[in-house]
Amino acid sequence: MAERTFIAIKPDGVQRKLIGEIVGRFEKKGFKLVGCKLLQPSRKLAEKHYAEHKGKPFYEGLLDFITSGPVFAMVWEGKEVVSTARSLIGLTDPLKSPMNTIRGDFGISVGRNIIHGSDSVESGKREINLWFAKNEIVKSGVTIEKWIYEN
Ligand code: UDP
Repeated sequence: MAERTFIAIKPDGVQRKLIGEIVGRFEKKGFKLVGCKLLQPSRKLAEKHYAEHKGKPFYEGLLDFITSGPVFAMVWEGKEVVSTARSLIGLTDPLKSPMNTIRGDFGISVGRNIIHGSDSVESGKREINLWFAKNEIVKSGVTIEKWIYEN
């Protein structure tokens, strides 16, 4: 199966009307959107998603923030999509993030950094299973592979 990653536009990105801009960047790169939905995550979902950060000073504030409004959750597919999505997103701190990355172009604060992207193929699988039911991911969508890949 092609590599997949979990991408979520956080409440700040949704409120700031950045959904179209962000989806456009992933689309134009050539990746394939195979699932998406707008939802306000429960505390339980947020705790599971950010389990690795439990106990850190920013953890409770992060949970408050991520559950504070609608999140646009997506599954993107393509060759090396996990690491390439991280390149498109930029660094955790928007001020240290290069221009032409999503966080570099649109953010200032670490706690308002607009977007989440899985940090490994394994976390991608875990996060996709956490946020999406199997039947919320399409099997065959747009078929433009021959214009993106040589073989
Ligand atoms: N975060 C924060 N303060 C910090 C570090 C992280 O608010 O000092 C938040 C920030 O929103 C970040 C998320 O916690 O995106 C997860 O942190 P991680 O280190 O996994 O960064 P990411 O993979 O999102 O770049």
